[in-house]
Amino acid sequence: MIVTRFAPSPTGYLHIGGLRTALFSYLWAKKNDGKFVLRIEDTDKARNSQEATKAILNAFEWLGLEHDGEITYQSQRDEIYAKYIKQLLDEGKAYKCYMSKEELTELREAQMANKQRTMYDGRYRDFDGTPPEGVEPVIRIKAPTSGEILVKDGVKGDVSFQAQDILDDFVIARADGSPTYNLVVAIDDHLMGINEVVRGDDHLSNTPKQIVIYEALGFEIPSFYHVPMIHNAQGKKLSKRDGATDVMAYKEMGYTPQALLNFLVRLGWSHGDQEIFSMEEMKHLFNPKDINKSASIYNTEKLDWLNSHYIKNTSNAELTELLTDYGLVLTSHDKKEILLDALKERAKTLKELAELVNDVITTPTSYNEKAVKKAFKGNAVEVLNAFGAKVSAADGLKLPLDYHTLMEEVVNEMEIGFGKIGNPLRVALLGKMSGPGLDTVMAVIGKEETMLRIANAIAMQS
Ligand code: GLU
Repeated sequence: MIVTRFAPSPTGYLHIGGLRTALFSYLWAKKNDGKFVLRIEDTDKARNSQEATKAILNAFEWLGLEHDGEITYQSQRDEIYAKYIKQLLDEGKAYKCYMSKEELTELREAQMANKQRTMYDGRYRDFDGTPPEGVEPVIRIKAPTSGEILVKDGVKGDVSFQAQDILDDFVIARADGSPTYNLVVAIDDHLMGINEVVRGDDHLSNTPKQIVIYEALGFEIPSFYHVPMIHNAQGKKLSKRDGATDVMAYKEMGYTPQALLNFLVRLGWSHGDQEIFSMEEMKHLFNPKDINKSASIYNTEKLDWLNSHYIKNTSNAELTELLTDYGLVLTSHDKKEILLDALKERAKTLKELAELVNDVITTPTSYNEKAVKKAFKGNAVEVLNAFGAKVSAADGLKLPLDYHTLMEEVVNEMEIGFGKIGNPLRVALLGKMSGPGLDTVMAVIGKEETMLRIANAIAMQS
């Protein structure tokens, strides 16, 4: 069974790059009826926070990405790590290094002066003398000193690292006994049964070190897929301004989970030229072997396009529910069907949709100056009066068509063009020139409110 994982360090919110990695891992597990597990890498007590963990879990909940089983917290696993450190020491695969900070600095400076790579020189690797007093040792692993370490990567192909270039006997436990990053990742991936590791390619340089640990502990090495980064339109690493922001900020901006996930799956992965993927299709079609070798480009227009696609295709009942998050309660509005049908085609985001709806259902309290200037020319007030009188006299006004018929009557009787009624009526109803069809607006707000808005606008003119 395929077991994948997402292993965030809770140093901040979940950002878009992390979420894409999580999505890829999730899809790959689900495609194979496998498991997708979550591990919180919270060993760095100074930088981690519970709020950050909560923010990450919130984002998962919003997006409907469910993880299997209990969450593993590295901060609760010190004893497990200590056991493996002891095992490595007992087996002679790791050793205590008593080098002081001063000695390390001295070594580094000498290496730099000689234009050598700065690395530990192995001086305690075979040490069997009396340890210096007053120095708490760190534990170092005995890494191979020659040969190559091959990372078989499902995205990048075989990546070979020369042991002598990249490895020194790196530290696996600090002087205070706390284990280091590469050690705990390897131990946990093994203990959690993870056999397919999908992660950002910023971790590729850690992988040979983790392989050293896997081998020292006799663990089977998982398959790796290192996913290239997401870049902005300028080909640079994503910054906050480009969208490298909190995933939950996308909710605030009015993006739907489907649009965001669909957007992310296409960042670095494709299936022919298909752009729209339901979750079921993603699960069915995704394969990390098809991930692009080069960085992908973040494109806001694409995200907006997908979002409007999903908004258009969301049922009115569901939209009503979603819009409550944007302060709009339409539950008992009797015309919400007409309203949402008319507006959901126009909105790029749910936030925008809430604003469009509000513009229709709220009586205008001010009027756009330019619009007023343009609309209230000639006999506009007279036209509005004539239309208002027809509305007032009519019975059983219900549908957009009912209002449209009255507008046509005015146009015919007064022998004017449609714009002569459309423009002032639009300003009267909405306070500005933009918005949906006026017959729809009136059908939604009803006869009384239509008359009120017309009267208000006339009063504003006199
Ligand atoms: N905790 C690491 C991070 O947040 C991920 C480690 C991994 O995926 O192996 O970047």
